[in-house]
Amino acid sequence: MREPILLTPGPLTTSLATKAAMLSDWGSWDSAFSAMTASVCRQLVAIAGAQATHVCVPLQGSGTFAVEAAVGNLVPRGGKLLVLVNGVYGKRMARIAGAIGRQVAVYEVVDDAWHEPAEVAARLEADPTISHVGVIQCETSTGILNPVAAIANVVAIAGRRLIVDAMSAFGALTLDARAVPYDALIASSNKCLEGVPGVSFVIVRQEALAAADGNSHSLALDLVDQHDYMRRTGQWRFTPPTHVVAAFASALDQYRDEGGQPARLARYTANCAALCAGLEGLGLRRFLPDDLQAPIIVTWHAPDHPDYDFGRFYDAVRARGFLLYPGKLTRVETFRVGCIGAIDQGEIRQAVTAVQAALMELGWLPQPEAGRTADIPLHHME
Ligand SMILES: *Cc1c(COP(=O)(O)O)cnc(C)c1O
Repeated sequence: MREPILLTPGPLTTSLATKAAMLSDWGSWDSAFSAMTASVCRQLVAIAGAQATHVCVPLQGSGTFAVEAAVGNLVPRGGKLLVLVNGVYGKRMARIAGAIGRQVAVYEVVDDAWHEPAEVAARLEADPTISHVGVIQCETSTGILNPVAAIANVVAIAGRRLIVDAMSAFGALTLDARAVPYDALIASSNKCLEGVPGVSFVIVRQEALAAADGNSHSLALDLVDQHDYMRRTGQWRFTPPTHVVAAFASALDQYRDEGGQPARLARYTANCAALCAGLEGLGLRRFLPDDLQAPIIVTWHAPDHPDYDFGRFYDAVRARGFLLYPGKLTRVETFRVGCIGAIDQGEIRQAVTAVQAALMELGWLPQPEAGRTADIPLHHME
């Protein structure tokens, strides 16, 4: 019996090597562990193309902890954050800014649309108190890939600072700091880098971090303090998630061995293509058009059947060894399938077969069109 495959955007399926890396105990004061932390941070900055300009500040906790740290440290108490919202994670960033007492404005568009760079420019010009702009690179609630580079240019021209939540994109989709101006990029261990959950990090421009002293609303999320302490001692300020860091270090070794970002993106792109061909072959429909879809997670309209219930669908697919993800849209009934994790087209094809069998069992499989058999059209997926 194989463990279920997680078709979810983190936690996700990790390799045996990544899991095995957690079988040792590490002392948080031990120089070997400090060296491991430093090496992980160096590699993360290199992936961002930011060695000359930024540093990596790791934090204990899931990705949201790092989003809150970035907003709370970089946006000064008298500053104001404009958040570009087209999904749940944009809304969350705005909520964080409000919760910690920062002024916040929201430019919201529907879930399947982009923000207009010209409109961002107009809003920045109209409100000189906006100091920072927050944007989500891949909005995981739908899988849309937002045009961060175009937004970054507009923000830079207006003389404001950019904070990018690149959580579900970093390591697969590029956002090279040498080409795209941003003060902070936020991501975590358990998405495209295929570690286990428990470490998040902010890749922050050195001058922006230096200017952030005293801004933090929180002791535990103080990036300046965490960075200073780590630089002086090599250690984390508070108990580090040692096993998670060890797994992350192993996951980064495997990332490099696979061929780094281009290879990771190629594998996810192939996964996404196989998934789309397979589920579309079953008669399911995608929420996003091709030109907005990132190869990270795909949102699907629920099968068009009056009895449809995500819980029953989930259980039927789960019984066949795959975990789906619920939809997050309020307007339409959807479910999501992740393309990321230590999986390839083989697992994706098996997942399509599992979805087909589940829908047949539940009686929700769309009627095959004339000339099409109920079997999976495998030629679509090669
Ligand atoms: C996963 C994710 C986060 C962080 O979520 P956590 O549950 O705190 O790890 C933030 N933003 C985006 C776009 C994400 O995909």
